[in-house]
Amino acid sequence: MMKLFSAIIVTLWLGFLLSGCNPANQESSTPTSSSSTPLPESTIDNAPAETATSAKPSVTPSPKPENPALPLSRYTLSAELDYDAHLVKVDEQISYINNSDSELNELLLLIEPNSYPNGFALSTLTWENGEPVSTYALNDRELSIPLPENLLPGNSIVLILSFQLNLPNQNAPYGYTDRQTNLGDWYPYVPPYIPGEGWLVSEDAFLGEHLAYDMAAFVVEINLANPFATNGGELVLVASSIPEIDGDIYHYHHAPARNFVWTVSPLYLEQETQEGEVMVKSYSFPYHPQADAPALEETAKALTIFNRLFGPYPHKSLSVVEADFLDGMEYDGLIFLSHAFYDFYTGDPQSNLTIIAAHEVAHQWWYGLVGNDQALEPWLDEALSTFSEVYFYENAYPDLTDWWWENRIFFHDPQGWVDSTIYEAAGFYPYRDAVYLRGAMFLGELRSLMGDEAFLVFLRAYLEQYRYRQASGDDFFNLLSEYTSTDLSTLIGTYFSRR
Ligand SMILES: [Zn+2]
Repeated sequence: MMKLFSAIIVTLWLGFLLSGCNPANQESSTPTSSSSTPLPESTIDNAPAETATSAKPSVTPSPKPENPALPLSRYTLSAELDYDAHLVKVDEQISYINNSDSELNELLLLIEPNSYPNGFALSTLTWENGEPVSTYALNDRELSIPLPENLLPGNSIVLILSFQLNLPNQNAPYGYTDRQTNLGDWYPYVPPYIPGEGWLVSEDAFLGEHLAYDMAAFVVEINLANPFATNGGELVLVASSIPEIDGDIYHYHHAPARNFVWTVSPLYLEQETQEGEVMVKSYSFPYHPQADAPALEETAKALTIFNRLFGPYPHKSLSVVEADFLDGMEYDGLIFLSHAFYDFYTGDPQSNLTIIAAHEVAHQWWYGLVGNDQALEPWLDEALSTFSEVYFYENAYPDLTDWWWENRIFFHDPQGWVDSTIYEAAGFYPYRDAVYLRGAMFLGELRSLMGDEAFLVFLRAYLEQYRYRQASGDDFFNLLSEYTSTDLSTLIGTYFSRR
């Protein structure tokens, strides 16, 4: 997603929507005309991947080392939300396991809520034995804690915190509006540690996402201090997984997962459908009944298609939630789709509701299962998720694949380097065009060069190799070189500035 908080952008957005053109947002970027222009065959391959008969990879990949499951750090969180006061009281225990092969002499906690004025108030911070942590430094979003003795590889350490969140009033994945309260990235967490480089921490930017996550186990209980909003309506709580409810307490277990998100509203209408092993749930506002079932159905459809193509979705539930902000946004186990996609849904799959549902579901693989540095190499999850939309259309609406390419990609005449960082883009459109759209063009041409089957074999190998880990661009290309003997230098030179 990207952040679009300014009034100027909102005005632009509405202008685009009213003129039937595009929202100013990279996850929502296609006109909904039904034009379908023939596309150059060298670029586009419309054959459904499952029926493709391309040659087998001409390079036999060497046997891969095992990808053993890493022990999971554990976040035990107990939260009480006062919906009307926009306050959350939280007790948190972090059992952090050093899965790196380096000794650590400090622990770093990232606290996104502390980037808001008075947004985060730390009450207590202790070691496991209850002794206060006497030395630490809290600067903006970073809480660094020198360790009394080095944490050896494989060893764990426990921190216990209590704090209060004062939620900001903003249309965003973290904050509250008249319609909903969203808690994305709401708790202190330990970012990935990259041996030789340090903590994987990036500054916020005015667009894109900047966080990276290790896999972890989340044990969460949430209590709504008052289950009714003062403006009427019983509050509905939606989170990354399905709760067990014990009186007023919602208990969640979410693992292994990148993060735990939740959202509350008195307005949510709920629908659900069982898709194989997975319960797909949809939560929408009561203003556009024609869009509610399609949001659920397209999400479920995308889940089924990507399950079959890439490998199994790892959780028992997936929730799609209407967002009171102008973006789609992915979390592990829960995706947000902008209210605008619902408001302007025209009843057919040539719509942003369908496109972005597929996109955010694809992030469950490219962001959820395979992690990456979203700040410095956002193309790894964004280009793959955008290109996954092709697989969605080829399988769900094959007649619309040309339409997708023409309207989602070529209509914009995208420019820019696929490996742009979130800090380099000149604005929302240049960032989307370079990373998302040109990223999808790169992957489309790569697929054409390799053949459908070999390309899919590579994607599955990439998933398998980096499942539950962080992948870099180097990892992507090193693995790719084992799955094709085709000379990719011209292709890579066309799309990447750093290779
Ligand atoms: Zn995305």
